[in-house]
Amino acid sequence: MIQIEPIKAFNDNYIWAIINADKKTIWVIDPGDANPVLEFCIHHDYQLVGILVTHHHYDHCGGVKLLREKFNITVYGPKHDSIHATHTVQDAEIIFLPECHLHFKILFIPGHTLEHVAFYCEEENLLFCGDTLFSAGCGRIFEGTPQQMYHSLTKLANLPDNTKIYCGHEYTLPNLKFAKLVEPDNSDIDDYITKVTHYRNEGQPSLPSMLGLEKKVNPFLRAAIPAVIESAEHRIGKPIYNTVEVFATIREWKNNT
Ligand SMILES: [Zn+2]
Repeated sequence: MIQIEPIKAFNDNYIWAIINADKKTIWVIDPGDANPVLEFCIHHDYQLVGILVTHHHYDHCGGVKLLREKFNITVYGPKHDSIHATHTVQDAEIIFLPECHLHFKILFIPGHTLEHVAFYCEEENLLFCGDTLFSAGCGRIFEGTPQQMYHSLTKLANLPDNTKIYCGHEYTLPNLKFAKLVEPDNSDIDDYITKVTHYRNEGQPSLPSMLGLEKKVNPFLRAAIPAVIESAEHRIGKPIYNTVEVFATIREWKNNT
């Protein structure tokens, strides 16, 4: 039996830990900082056995080097010098994490960065997606094109609705405020704002989210929905004839809010 818990880092990052409480082992995802991981291990008497990295930004992999120096661990990540992986992953490759008996499929999802990957576990419906899909939002397009990012988000949206979404940051409430600008009449967004506000007031993470819910509230997964198209057209004052352009328009809109 595994548990998944967030280790907080920096202002709003989550380093996710997959814990086998019987064996007292953990795998962590995107350790941007080694210290909170070390403290978490000491506090619970857990042994760090491996790391998964989604992309090369320092707040996701900045702690890998030090953790590798301290422990003899496996690090799966895409090809990039800053990641310090022991195993470079390939698209659609299946990796096995023996300490938690889980298989993960590697999904290449470029856009936020060009080498960005997600880790998908079908048997437990888990998705670790870094800075590509956020709850009610998506990452900025730093290295790829809107077309690539939209394609990557569509790839994630095609997973089962009960997939749990573990993303890299606590951005849900500000994302929902923007979602409401795009779709003022979407009552699912209102319901989710109420729920997330409650969690945050209690000091709890809003994550994991659920893919089925994201399809109802996340404007970046809803670029083919008439209300979102209309809103994007209103934003730029002209008709839009393809979904990627709707997506690019609302991404640009979000960058400027
Ligand atoms: Zn990033």
